[in-house]
Amino acid sequence: MAAKQIKIALAGNPNSGKTTIFNSITGTRQKVGNWPGVTVEKKEGQVHKFGYNLKIIDLPGTYSLTPYSIEEIVARDFILDEQPDVVIDIIDASNLERSLYLATQIRELDCKVLFALNMHDVARARGITIDADKMSQLLDVPVVFTVGNKNEGVDVLLEKAVELARSDVQLPRTRRVKYSKDIEKCIENYKDYIENTVGDQLPYNSRWTAIKLLEDDKILQDRIKEKTGLKAPEILEQAEIHRSHIRNFFDEEPEIIFTDERYGFIAGIVKEVMTTSTLQRVDISRNIDLVLTNRFLGFPIFIFFIWAMFQLTFTIGAYPMEWIEDGISSFSGFLATVVPDGLFKDLLIDGIIAGVGAVIVFLPNILILFFCIALFEDTGYMSRAAFLMDKVMHMIGLHGKSFIPMLMGFGCSVPAIMATRTLESEKDRILTILITPFMSCSARLPIYIVLAGTFFPKSAGTVIFSIYIGGIVMAIIMGRLLRSTLLRGMDAPFVMELPPYRVPMLKSLVIHMWDRAKMFLKKMGGIILIGSVIIWFLSSFPKNIDYSKDYIKQIEAEKQTYEKTISMADEDRLLQHKNEHERAIEKLQQEKRIEATEKSYIGQIGKAIEPVFAPLGIDWRGSVALLTGFVAKEIVVSTLGVLYAAGDDESEALKHALKQSGMTPLSALGMMFFVLLYVPCLATVATIRKETFSWGWAIFSVIYSTLLAWITAFVIYQGGMLLGF
Ligand code: GDP
Ligand code: MG
Repeated sequence: MAAKQIKIALAGNPNSGKTTIFNSITGTRQKVGNWPGVTVEKKEGQVHKFGYNLKIIDLPGTYSLTPYSIEEIVARDFILDEQPDVVIDIIDASNLERSLYLATQIRELDCKVLFALNMHDVARARGITIDADKMSQLLDVPVVFTVGNKNEGVDVLLEKAVELARSDVQLPRTRRVKYSKDIEKCIENYKDYIENTVGDQLPYNSRWTAIKLLEDDKILQDRIKEKTGLKAPEILEQAEIHRSHIRNFFDEEPEIIFTDERYGFIAGIVKEVMTTSTLQRVDISRNIDLVLTNRFLGFPIFIFFIWAMFQLTFTIGAYPMEWIEDGISSFSGFLATVVPDGLFKDLLIDGIIAGVGAVIVFLPNILILFFCIALFEDTGYMSRAAFLMDKVMHMIGLHGKSFIPMLMGFGCSVPAIMATRTLESEKDRILTILITPFMSCSARLPIYIVLAGTFFPKSAGTVIFSIYIGGIVMAIIMGRLLRSTLLRGMDAPFVMELPPYRVPMLKSLVIHMWDRAKMFLKKMGGIILIGSVIIWFLSSFPKNIDYSKDYIKQIEAEKQTYEKTISMADEDRLLQHKNEHERAIEKLQQEKRIEATEKSYIGQIGKAIEPVFAPLGIDWRGSVALLTGFVAKEIVVSTLGVLYAAGDDESEALKHALKQSGMTPLSALGMMFFVLLYVPCLATVATIRKETFSWGWAIFSVIYSTLLAWITAFVIYQGGMLLGF
C-alpha cells in the first residue's frame, strides 16, 4: 500500500535557520529549482517517516506576508493555494519580537501551524528564557524548541507536525491575533457582511479575507474578483466604506493601524513569555560591529578583505591550476599516442580537450572565490559589506544590497546574476543584472594577461588594474544612465538587516561553495563543449583548400636541397645546416597552417566582419577571436592562439606573432576595453533571460553592451592616435 503524503512547508525570517532545518530533515534527497514564474529559489525534499511520505518545502525567507516583495508573494500564495497540511514557522528565538510578526500573520491565515523556536542555544547564551507552554496557550499553536545546526529537536518537531496534520478535527480557535475593540468591531462587521453575501464562494478564511481587504490587499482583491464574479464590486465597495470609517476614526491609513496593532499584540506576547537576564547579555556582535562598521576603520578593513580575497584566489589558485594544466596536457599527450590519426583525433584533442580544458583550469580559482564569498555570507560579514557600500551604491540609485551580486561578478557573472534574487524591487534587480557583467569576470583575465603582457610588458599590472577599475566606473555611469531613463524609479525602501555574527560551520561553507561551483561547471561545461566543437569545426573546414603555393612540393624541394647540401658540407657546419633546414620546414608548415585558417570558414567570417573592427585597429584575426568570445571569454585566447601562432599556443610564440601583426599598444588597450565591456558570454545571456523572464532584457543587454564596447574602443584607439600616442 502506498504511504499517504503529508505536505509540510517551512516558513520563517531570512537567517532563522530554515534551510538548515530543511537540510537536516531531508538530507540529500532534495530538488532545487525556481518557483513557477519567478526566480526565487525553490527547495523541495521527500522523506519517509512515521509511515508517511513527508514532502518538505523550504519557503522563501520573509519578515511578513504582506505581498510586497516576490518572496512574500511566493510564500503567501503557496500557503493559500497549495494548502500544505502543516506550516512550520521557524522562529529565531534570539530575536523573538521580530520573528513574531510573520508568525502572527501565518497564524491569522488559520492554516495548521506549528512554531519551531530555533536558535535556542543562542537565546540561552544571551540569557533569554522563553516560556513555550505559555506561548503555545496564548496563540493556540504547538511550540517546539530546536537547535537546527546541531539537529536538536528536529525529530520532535517533525513528529508534532505529523500529529498536527493527522488531527482532522478543526482546532479550537478560541485564541487569535486580537486587535483593539473598534477595529475588532469593524472586522466582525465586514466579515459578517462578506459571509452573508458570498459565503460559500469565499476561497479563504472569512476573517482573514476581511482583514486583508480592509488592508487594501491588491492581490486578494484580484482573487475575490475572480472567485465571486458579479458580487465583487459590491464587496470591494463595502471594504472602502469600512476603510474610510477606520481612516476617519484614527486619522491614519488602515494598513498602518493594522500593522501598529499587530506590533502591539506582539509586544504583549513577548512580555508574557520572554524573560531576559540582563547580566548575561553581552552582545558580542555589537562589539564587533563597533570596529567593522566603524566610520573610519570600516572601509579600509573591507577593502583589505576584498584584496585578500583576490590575492587568495589568484595566488593559491595558481598551484592547483598548474597541476590541472599539467594533467590535461599529459592526458592530451596520452590520447595523441593511442588514438589513430584522423578527424576524430583532431576533434578530440584540438577541439574538445583544448576547449573544455581551458575552462577546467579555472575551477580552483572559482572554488576559492566562492569559498571566500560563502565565508563572508555565513559569518554575517556580507551584510556589513552591503551596509558599508550603501552610500557608494546610492550614486547609482541602488542600495548596498546590490553590491553583493556585483562583488560576485568578479568571479563569474552567472552566479552573480542569480544572486540578484535577494533584491526586493524588480527594477533594482534588472538594473543590477544589466551592470553586473561590467565587473570583470575571471574568464577575461587571461586575455588581459596576454595583451597587456605583450604590449605593456613593464606596466602590465597597472594596466590590468585600471581595466578592472574601468569596469566599475562604467557600471556606475551606465547605472546612473539607466536609472534616469529606462529603469526610472526610487530604490525600494528597506532596512539593512545586520544578522548577528556566527562562527561558520565548515560543512555549510563547503555546501554553499559547491552549490555555486556545480552550477558554474554544469553551465559552462555544456556551453564550452559545444562552443569548442563549433570553433574547431569552423577553423578546420573546408579541407580542400586552393593553396596559393604548392606547399607539399616546396617542402619536398627543401628536403632535397638539404640532402644535397649536407652531402657536400663541411663536418663542422652540419649542425648549422640541420637547424636551418628545420626552420625552413617549420616556416613553410606554419605558412600553410595560416593560409588554411585564413581560408577556413572562420577565416571567411573574420574577413567579412573585419570592416566593423578596422576603425578600432583590430584585424580579422582579432575580430574572429572577439566573435568567439561570445561563447565564452576564455575561448578568445585560444582562438588568438590558433589564428596568430597557428599551432601550439605557446605564450611566447603568441606574443611574438601579436607584435608582428600590426597591432599597437593603443589598439591592444582598446581591445582589452572591448573585451571588458562587450556582450556577456552565452551562459550569462541565458541566465539574464532566465532571471528577468524576458528575451527583451537579454537582447537589450547584448546590444547595449556591445555598442558601448565599440564606442569605448573607438574613442581609445582613434582618440589616442589623434593625441599622437
Ligand atoms: P535561512 O535563511 O532561514 O535558510 O537560514 P539558514 O538555514 O541558512 O541558517 C543561517 C545560519 O544560522 C547558518 O549559518 C546556520 O548554520 C545557523 N543556524 C541555523 N540554526 C541554528 C541554531 O539553532 N543555532 C545556531 N547557533 N545557529 C544556527
Ligand atoms: Mg535559506
